[in-house]
Amino acid sequence: MDYQDKTLNCKECTKEFVWSAGEQKFYNDKGLQNPPGRCPDCRKKSKDKKANRTMYSIICKECGKEGQVPFEPRNPNDVLCAECFAKSRANTPAPDQNPPGV
Ligand SMILES: [Zn+2]
Ligand SMILES: [Zn+2]
Repeated sequence: MDYQDKTLNCKECTKEFVWSAGEQKFYNDKGLQNPPGRCPDCRKKSKDKKANRTMYSIICKECGKEGQVPFEPRNPNDVLCAECFAKSRANTPAPDQNPPGV
C-alpha cells in the first residue's frame, strides 16, 4: 500500500501538521485506526508533561534518608520515603486482621 503525506489539523493548537507517509505506515503497522489528533509538537509536550511529573524532595522521618515523592507532603516533617512507606504499610495489619492474642 502506498502512503502519501497528509495534512491534518491539530485539535490542540489547531495548527496544520504533516502526517507523513512513513508515520501512516507506522500507524498501520501498529494497527492504529485513527490518525493522530495532535501535531508532533503537542504530542511531545504532553509526553514531556508526563515525564516531568513534579517530584518533591523529602527527608524520611523513619530512616532520615532523602527521598522523592510524587505529591506535596502536607507535613514535610512527617513523610516517609517510598521504601519506608511500603514497609509501614506491610507492617500495619488491617484493623480487623489483628492476630489473636495481641
Ligand atoms: Zn498542536
Ligand atoms: Zn525511609
